[in-house]
Amino acid sequence: MPKVRTFSTDQVKGKKVFLRVDFNVPMKDGKVSDDTRIRAHLKTIQALRDAGAVVCMASHLGRPKGKRNMEFSLGPVRDELAKLTGWSIKMAEDCVGESVVEALGSLKDGEMLLLENLRFHPEEEKNDPDFARRLAEPFDVFVMDAFSAAHRAHASTRGVADHLETYAGYLMEKEIEVLSKVRDNPDAPFVLILGGAKVSDKIGVIDNMLDKVQTILIGGGMAFTFLKARGVEIGRSLCEEDKLDFAKEMMNKAAEKGISMVLPVDVVVAQEVKDGVSSAVVSSDAIPSDQMGLDIGPESVKSFAGIIEGAKTILWNGPMGVFEISAFASGTKGVAEAIARTVQNGSTSVVGGGDSAAAVAAFGMEDKVGHVSTGGGASLEFFEGRVLPGVEILLD
Ligand code: ADP
Ligand code: MG
Repeated sequence: MPKVRTFSTDQVKGKKVFLRVDFNVPMKDGKVSDDTRIRAHLKTIQALRDAGAVVCMASHLGRPKGKRNMEFSLGPVRDELAKLTGWSIKMAEDCVGESVVEALGSLKDGEMLLLENLRFHPEEEKNDPDFARRLAEPFDVFVMDAFSAAHRAHASTRGVADHLETYAGYLMEKEIEVLSKVRDNPDAPFVLILGGAKVSDKIGVIDNMLDKVQTILIGGGMAFTFLKARGVEIGRSLCEEDKLDFAKEMMNKAAEKGISMVLPVDVVVAQEVKDGVSSAVVSSDAIPSDQMGLDIGPESVKSFAGIIEGAKTILWNGPMGVFEISAFASGTKGVAEAIARTVQNGSTSVVGGGDSAAAVAAFGMEDKVGHVSTGGGASLEFFEGRVLPGVEILLD
């Protein structure tokens, strides 16, 4: 099990710390519309402050395509962070060069610095060695807390580690601790719940996790490719024709290994993916040819919930239906509620995937379903069994 290197007070006291966070928050009308990602880093920032470090935060925001574009300025994030905490936070004009050195030099006791968007420079995403050296130059220590950016080898997530002592922040530590437990050392029975739009996004996860789980529950859009692979008519439901063979192969492999792969027994169908459209529950083998399946049905929720409640370990990736529309949200909500009951009885659960996390947040259940990972793409790559470049630098 990987364990990341964290910092002690002595290692950061009086040091200038380059703290990589992920403040890539959703914005609306020039303001932060959801501060979840900011709050996720507060423990690390607080700890560095308490330890007497000079804290300087760096992040990307949106896709400014390597050009300075104030539409993607981190200024509004600075305002939100200051409002949230009451801290005094200065903003540097850029993330490298004179303006950073000057801003650092002018910080008073207790003040912190936020650098301007890393992606104003095309060298950031290229992990350009000279850019990484320039990023690191004004600092003594690198603290990597951006788990959700750790699957990218960029200058600020990987390159700077070549120049500075490097430690993990608390968010990173927590993510790696919980995700590793589930991936590398799960207590049985281990139930993997997969959903979301596409089989192709989850192939790597299925491949890597198949040997470790006792049961796989499949819902969401991807269930229909599996149903079709079993010979069921799926109407106009989502289907990846080129993944039918993969689905068949996986079902055969699971059967050989004694793993049960459970598909929905009923589904919610409609003509259109639209608010207010009329919908019906049908058996999975009776989907009308002109309709599409947009959620798992109530019988499926019951059967999934029964299995989930018997689990000691749960990994959930991908909503059970088009949860963004209330008529197709019950399956996802039912699964979230079953997970919450199981977690309450002491089981370990990880929710990975950006949309799954958004669904859980929309139901107001973030605190009930176990560990909701902040890393969408990063958590997927983690469960594919990869070593993330921004995590590798934190291993001894
Ligand atoms: P995550 O981000 O959690 O990994 P995905 O990105 O794989 O999840 O999938 C999320 C999307 O899948 C959601 O936008 C949801 O509307 C869509 N989806 C779920 N079920 C279906 C379905 N039956 N048909 C079409 N789209 C679906
Ligand atoms: Mg997604």
